[in-house]
Amino acid sequence: MSVSQWLPRAGPFGESLVTREEEKSEAAKGRATHSAAEGARAAGYPQMERGPHRSQISTSRKIDVWPPPGHALGMIGGVLLDLAGVVYDGQKPISGAAEAIARLRKAGLPLRFVSNTTRSTKKAVLGRLDGFEISVAENELLTPAIAAREWLQKHDCSPHLLVHPGLEPDFSGLPAGGKPAVVIGDVGEALDYSKLNAAFRKLSEGAEFLALANNRIFKDADGKPSLDAGPFVAALEFACQRSAIVLGKPSEDFFRSALASMGCEPETAVMVGDDAEGDVAGALRAGLSCALLVRTGKYRSGDEQRFEPKPTALVDDLTAAVTWILKRKAHS
Ligand SMILES: [Mg+2]
Repeated sequence: MSVSQWLPRAGPFGESLVTREEEKSEAAKGRATHSAAEGARAAGYPQMERGPHRSQISTSRKIDVWPPPGHALGMIGGVLLDLAGVVYDGQKPISGAAEAIARLRKAGLPLRFVSNTTRSTKKAVLGRLDGFEISVAENELLTPAIAAREWLQKHDCSPHLLVHPGLEPDFSGLPAGGKPAVVIGDVGEALDYSKLNAAFRKLSEGAEFLALANNRIFKDADGKPSLDAGPFVAALEFACQRSAIVLGKPSEDFFRSALASMGCEPETAVMVGDDAEGDVAGALRAGLSCALLVRTGKYRSGDEQRFEPKPTALVDDLTAAVTWILKRKAHS
């Protein structure tokens, strides 16, 4: 089967859709589907053995039919939005994003913004959104650093930080003298061998091991993909033969705490993201019934076929995603 056969088609509301229902239909016609690995190979992506922390992600919640059992099609009770690549690209807002968010608010849908940023503090992210005239309350934004801080406090740990300098303020004021915990994120240009090795030595001595995120890549300021935190998390895991506790997406706890904070059941929630693995597959594994992949941000052609579970729908951007959501809400 050629990859072109998987290119998105127009959905019932005029948007581009790739649904599991369609996949089942295609398969029934005798057209074999690509596995995620096959899709990645076809696209020329490097193949790798997945680390133990990734294999620990449960696939028992994988949704094979649409709508999933017990889910009323169209019933939408809340929305999770990724930020980078969905709402903004670097220092610029994505066209139509502010208006799309306003439409969701006007429709009365509870919102949470779930970002995997490991370079900016929560305060800085809120400030950036404000600059784009997108008003987001403090309790509407969840970041891995905030989740890590809560984890450290809950477990009486003191952090050994291997994070971007811009993120350090999110860890200020934590008590010293607790059990050590290495916290690793995307360090950017500040990363060097001595810092990575110091973190490895702490882990060798028994420190707790927290990864803010394990994203493979991000879209850099020059528009090209760059290494995210994941490759460096994997390096430490390989060296110390331990798995990190991942706090950001695709952690099931991260998605579920965002939903719990707005009183939304996973079965009625929709996720919108530009990362087919961390945002989309992660959300579906966490029990959300819908996850939309946008073509903005880090999206690359064919991403919708590379990971399981595949997106509920592939849409052009946040504007199209909101149209998709509101039309289904109207039909509920
Ligand atoms: Mg993103």
